[in-house]
Amino acid sequence: MTLRDITDRITKAEAAAGRTPGAVSLIAVSKVQPNARVEAVLQEGQRIFGENKVQEAESKRAQVTVPVRWHLVGHLQRNKAKNAAKFDLVHSLDSERLAVALNDAAGEAQRVLEVLVQVNVSGEGTKSGFALHELPTVAERLHACGNLRVRGVMTMAPFDADESALRAVFRGARDARSQLQGAGFRAEWLSMGMSGDYEVAIEEGATHVRLGTVLFGSRT
Ligand SMILES: *Cc1c(COP(=O)(O)O)cnc(C)c1O
Repeated sequence: MTLRDITDRITKAEAAAGRTPGAVSLIAVSKVQPNARVEAVLQEGQRIFGENKVQEAESKRAQVTVPVRWHLVGHLQRNKAKNAAKFDLVHSLDSERLAVALNDAAGEAQRVLEVLVQVNVSGEGTKSGFALHELPTVAERLHACGNLRVRGVMTMAPFDADESALRAVFRGARDARSQLQGAGFRAEWLSMGMSGDYEVAIEEGATHVRLGTVLFGSRT
C-alpha cells in the first residue's frame, strides 16, 4: 500500500475508535529494505523511521538528507548502547542492565534519551521484554536513571494470535502503562501494532504503530 493508503486507514481506525484525529503516529520500519524503497516513502512525506539494528540505521541515516527521526524498535545488546543514544526514541528497553547501559550512554552524550519499556505480555519465550509483575522493580531502577525519560510501553503480539488473544496482549500493555504512570512516570505512549494487527492496536489505544511489510513490501 502507499503511505497515503495507510495513513487513510489509520485515520479511519482512529475515528472508529473515537480517538482524536492524529492520535496515532506511524513509524515506517525500514529494516532490511533497500535504500530506493526508503527513499520512495521519504518522498511521499514520511519522517519517522524505525530500525532494529544500530549499524543499519547509521548507514541509512547517512543517505538521507532531510531531517528524519529515527526510532530503535529491535532488541539491543548492551555493548551497542552507546550508538543507541543517538536515536530519538528507543522502543526496546527490555532489561535492567540495558537501562543502566543506556543511562550511562545518554549521560556521556550529554542528552536525555527517550525510551519505552518493552513488555512481554503473552509470556512467549522468543520475545524480549518484562513480565507485568516485574514492573514495580523495573520502575524503581528507572527512577535512578536520570538520563532516561520513560515515555511509555512497547509490546509485540504473537504473530499467529487470533483477535481475542491480540486484544488481551494490547490490554496488557495498557495495564503496564498504567503501572508506570502509577509509579510516577509520564509514560503516555503505547507502541503496539504491526502490519498484521495495527487496526486492532489502534482500537486498543496504540499511540505508535510500527509498520514494515504493509508499507515497503516483503523483506526478502
Ligand atoms: C520488523 C518489526 C516491525 C514491523 O513488522 P511488519 O510486520 O513488517 O510491519 C515492527 N516492530 C518491530 C519490533 C519489528 O522488529
